[in-house]
Amino acid sequence: MGYCFVTTILQDFSQRLLSWFKTHGRKDLPWQQDKTPYRVWVSEVMLQQTQVATVIPYFLKFMARFATVEMLADASLDDLLHIWSGLGYYARARNLHRAATIVAERHQGQLPRDLEAMTALPGIGRSTAGAILALAHGDRHPILDGNVKRVLARHGAVEGWPGDAAVERRLWQDAERYTPYSDVADYTQAIMDLGATLCTRNAPLCPVCPVAGDCRSAHDGLWQKYPGKKPVKQLPVQTKVFLMLTDPQGNVLMERRPPSGVWGGLWSFPELAPEENVASWCRHQLAAQVEVMESWPPFRHTFSHFHLDITPVRAVAQSIDPAVMEPDRFIWYNTDQDRRQGLSAPVARLLQAMRDDATGVK
Ligand code: SF4
Repeated sequence: MGYCFVTTILQDFSQRLLSWFKTHGRKDLPWQQDKTPYRVWVSEVMLQQTQVATVIPYFLKFMARFATVEMLADASLDDLLHIWSGLGYYARARNLHRAATIVAERHQGQLPRDLEAMTALPGIGRSTAGAILALAHGDRHPILDGNVKRVLARHGAVEGWPGDAAVERRLWQDAERYTPYSDVADYTQAIMDLGATLCTRNAPLCPVCPVAGDCRSAHDGLWQKYPGKKPVKQLPVQTKVFLMLTDPQGNVLMERRPPSGVWGGLWSFPELAPEENVASWCRHQLAAQVEVMESWPPFRHTFSHFHLDITPVRAVAQSIDPAVMEPDRFIWYNTDQDRRQGLSAPVARLLQAMRDDATGVK
């Protein structure tokens, strides 16, 4: 009884999609005409990161130039890249070219009709291989491209980011369960069309969706939770002391940063590790005696790949020996006159704070 009930629901899911497809599905796309595995393959690769409307003119140009696998295999990569120009993600074109050579040489110009052999070709993953076999031959293989992930995550209220292996596994299971045993080509096109035209990223049309009846996120705007977002990566944290050292005339010691890396080539305060002793650093690097010193409140500056926790330390040099300083590396910066040096935003802010401090601005 339970088994029959579940089977009915699964069939029902595909049946509802198939009858929706009859009236609303897309049937006049260029790769749906004169359908061959080669045409479906090229269209699927082009559609991997690009929308249908953008792909159509490229597909037509491509087919006019490379009508068969052999023609593609015989072409130079430059020829192919010329046709591909503007479509982006050029690795797709390079993989397509390599795969065409393999198909021409090892498979007599026929794309293999076998999932494993297909996924062994460059640029063809499990979903693309499934789509080619299902659309071109009607073979029963599930697909899980971006649109289908969105539909299934919403329909089943599947928590978590689909890039996570466990979530992806669960979505593949759903994709497998829902794929019918007949009309596979239409079903495959139907679920892709549903994702592209109804269950869209930002404005799904749930009231007219054929699977809304048992969709677990159709109501109360729940769909916004699915699929789950990619988790924000924890950035590593570096900790530095910014030494804000002035000479007896009030000039500030600045150090040029290395040409590459963050703030490359800009002028900054000397950066010390938190455990370094400021007085002895000044003695060794500058032959300067310093009178210390106060720490300013620490703050965080965030780069794309790490956080920098900065503790500014204010110090005044009593005596300095200019002969000891490396001229390309250090300068004494006059905050009233010098303006030409490149400064990072936090350094510029701290310099302003030093100026305000010196003039008693609160
Ligand atoms: S009911 Fe809405 S959220 Fe659910 S699959 Fe259909 S369009 Fe997507």
